[in-house]
Amino acid sequence: MDKTMNSWYYREMGSRNKKTGKLNYYNVRVTEHKIDDCECMARQFRPYSPCKHMKRLKEKLSHLSI
Ligand SMILES: [Zn+2]
Repeated sequence: MDKTMNSWYYREMGSRNKKTGKLNYYNVRVTEHKIDDCECMARQFRPYSPCKHMKRLKEKLSHLSI
């Protein structure tokens, strides 16, 4: 990756774990004002479509693109 690329991460709340009762959190990556990745399972199955965490972050931070 280019060293000048600026990536940072937002924590988005995921679904509750039914066994432990704990909430899952996912790190959503933003690179150069673009929401470009999330660490959740949905992204591993469908890497080219934004998951609900990426969409939720976009709703909160409307200056970012997706
Ligand atoms: Zn996600």
